[in-house]
Amino acid sequence: MIDVLHVRAFEDNYIWLIISDGGNATAVIDPGDAAPVQEALARLGLRLEAILCTHHHGDHVGGVAGLVTGKPVPVYGPAREGIHTVTHPVVEGGTVSLTGLGVTLRVLDIPGHTRGHVAYYGAGMLFCGDTLFSAGCGRLFEGTTAQMHHSLQRLADLPGDTRVYCGHEYTESNLRFALAVEPDNAATLGYRNSVIALRRRDRPTLPSTIALEKSVNPFLRCDSAGVRGAAEQFAHKPLPSGVDVFAALRRWKDGFNG
Ligand code: ZN
Ligand code: FE
Repeated sequence: MIDVLHVRAFEDNYIWLIISDGGNATAVIDPGDAAPVQEALARLGLRLEAILCTHHHGDHVGGVAGLVTGKPVPVYGPAREGIHTVTHPVVEGGTVSLTGLGVTLRVLDIPGHTRGHVAYYGAGMLFCGDTLFSAGCGRLFEGTTAQMHHSLQRLADLPGDTRVYCGHEYTESNLRFALAVEPDNAATLGYRNSVIALRRRDRPTLPSTIALEKSVNPFLRCDSAGVRGAAEQFAHKPLPSGVDVFAALRRWKDGFNG
């Protein structure tokens, strides 16, 4: 079994470390800051084998240059985002072979938060940056609502037991919105209790799973009658399609102070 560790950065970013079983080869996902990653690598005696980036925002790529100086470490990242530190641009359907870890990750194109945002999926793990958060989703900075809705749909179609590693610890505040949309969702109410308990001990709420997200995340539940009804009440009009429901939910959350 390979191991996945988190490194905290800034207010609420997670930088994920995938570590080989019994070895020290390590891949780092979305290093927004170099220092805490260097500290973790040194403390645990790990060898940096590769860096993977999901999108171009500084809190996900800002530490890349500091980590690779003087080392021939490949840096994978979306071909369509012009990240200057990327040495191995990736596109939909491509793969990233982490030979030292014995893991191959598949590249999924999931635009919406940014135009070229990608996810990495394999070995039962999904690294999805700022597209899917637990109980929420990323803001639409560059893409359209239709793109984001489709991207989230693709992630929802992955196997239910897929472990979901997101770029930020937003779960607790996302759940306040999720419960405004679905106040009676028993899965969401139960999840909130465990999330509050974890956060009280300063523990991460991630990874989540696709199955859990499908039961609590309103942005993955645009086809459920309850979510649609709540979104229609917010929008004061009928919302015939899943994309319409998604667009209303996203607007609602953008102005939500829970
Ligand atoms: Zn971002
Ligand atoms: Fe971010």
